[in-house]
Amino acid sequence: MQKEIGPIIFIQGENHGKYPFCHSIFIKDSGILIDPASGRENLQQLKDDYHVQEVWLTHWHEDHFLNIDIFDDLPFCISEPDAPPFNDIETLIDFYGIDDDHRDGWRSFFIEEVGYHPRRPSKFLEGDKTLSLDSVTVEIIKTPGHTPGHLSFFFKEPGILLLGDYDLTKFGPWYGDLDSSIDKTIESVKQLQKIPAEIWLTSHETGFFEEAPDKLWDDYLNVIDTREQKLLDLLKSPRKFNEIANACIIYGKAREPRIFYEFGERSHMRKHLEKLINQGVVVRDSEYYVLL
Ligand SMILES: [Zn+2]
Repeated sequence: MQKEIGPIIFIQGENHGKYPFCHSIFIKDSGILIDPASGRENLQQLKDDYHVQEVWLTHWHEDHFLNIDIFDDLPFCISEPDAPPFNDIETLIDFYGIDDDHRDGWRSFFIEEVGYHPRRPSKFLEGDKTLSLDSVTVEIIKTPGHTPGHLSFFFKEPGILLLGDYDLTKFGPWYGDLDSSIDKTIESVKQLQKIPAEIWLTSHETGFFEEAPDKLWDDYLNVIDTREQKLLDLLKSPRKFNEIANACIIYGKAREPRIFYEFGERSHMRKHLEKLINQGVVVRDSEYYVLL
């Protein structure tokens, strides 16, 4: 499914843009494709129908570059802070913060399933910059938190705001990587909320909003508080980290594939614990996390 609004084409990703897919955006006259992970068929069709000239990424995650090999001959651009994972597979694994015991599993996943191979950006996209393209003025907005160099895009004349992975889904925000940040995620979402858009696009699930998603912004950020509250309830008794991870606060229950969900559960709980420790609400006493 494609939706065309002036110079912008929204390409709905396979399986509603759920992982490992996302929705793609194409800027017609400039031939710029953002996030080539909406499925091979969709993107092959786009390549047949239009003159694609350049690939941009909102950020470095694999569910945003899954099908980039279709455009291997084209320049590819990303923000500088999000570029290192494209140097080599080990840097990508480091960026996720995967521990030594799980690196082998993730390495084969990225190489065999995602088709990862190193690539060099032809230029860096700079945040807080306005570009005048042939048919549209685009504001590139730095929105760190999800990843350190995450970018959102505001296409001014049609008033279309691409939020990227601040995707307003029920699951809520992801801030599980080594350099993800809960505080920056909140700041970025609040910043995006203020932009005078008329259409809102996100990378996953619904993806296309013609009416202001007022309540969804709040619901989305409230997920962070709900996760924190559940953790605080759990910490009414001192807990070891494994007990905290096994409480499945993020995903609700143990899910398959385990390697994927366990990582998400553990990495998000680490971020919440870090935040609570910094706030002086929780301390670590040898193996136990203790509420003060
Ligand atoms: Zn992402």
